[in-house]
Amino acid sequence: MVGDGFWVHTFFPGSRTMNLQRMSPFFLMDYNAKTEFHPTDKPRGVGVHPHRGFETVTIVYQGRVAHHDSAGNSGIIKEGDVQWMTAAAGVLHKEYHEKCWSKKGGMMQMVQLWVNLPAKFKMSKPKYQTLSHKRFGKFELPDDLGIIEVIAGKYHGAKGIASTFTPIELYNVKIKKGAIVNFSFPEHYNTGILVIDGRVKLNEQIALTDHFVLFSNNGTDIQLEASKDSILLVLSGEPINEHIESYGPFVMNTKEEILQAYEDLNKGKFGQLEN
Ligand code: MN
Repeated sequence: MVGDGFWVHTFFPGSRTMNLQRMSPFFLMDYNAKTEFHPTDKPRGVGVHPHRGFETVTIVYQGRVAHHDSAGNSGIIKEGDVQWMTAAAGVLHKEYHEKCWSKKGGMMQMVQLWVNLPAKFKMSKPKYQTLSHKRFGKFELPDDLGIIEVIAGKYHGAKGIASTFTPIELYNVKIKKGAIVNFSFPEHYNTGILVIDGRVKLNEQIALTDHFVLFSNNGTDIQLEASKDSILLVLSGEPINEHIESYGPFVMNTKEEILQAYEDLNKGKFGQLEN
């Protein structure tokens, strides 16, 4: 449980096969599979905490998440929308179920990715991108078989709207039973697909709802065939080949930088935010 609001499975890092570098530039993926939350007057979530050295990308499939940070940004991430927060040099933030949504309760389903930053950008100024699904680049499949929403990168001319520090492809694939979609990513990119809903065949392997498929760095082509109506999150990116030191909410390159992050946090250099 992250705070009392997000019941997550951390697909990476953590396991023997999914070390800190395995999905670089993606460092972490927390997946809150469909979870029913009962109505409450006190929104559930996670209180004020810092981040430094990377970006958090929050993708909401069901439910509503409210966000506030010490750079003065705030917003509500609605169904289908994405928030791309560049913590970089450091912010404090808090993440809660949205107040009105909490009063009614309902189903929550979301993903949070931590996207690492190269050393030269780790101490850049924090920023925040609100990415509404209406603005995503969209590639429509023939015969009304579905859509590829491009959050970042490019798919057959449909362009993503997120600005990224390193090359990243991030798509929501929403397809109907029988749809066939092909992807091609450079062999050295790290690539994975999370099945948000449905059932698909990926290069002859079956993948079911709530499963994460990790691709080897061998070959470039992926063929996806939906055996049910399906929603998938496709992520692929050029690895950042730099040493990682991470501790708690910080992802840096050296132990000294982790200690520095705690020192700066204690000195109030991450700004201020009320709980
Ligand atoms: Mn956070």
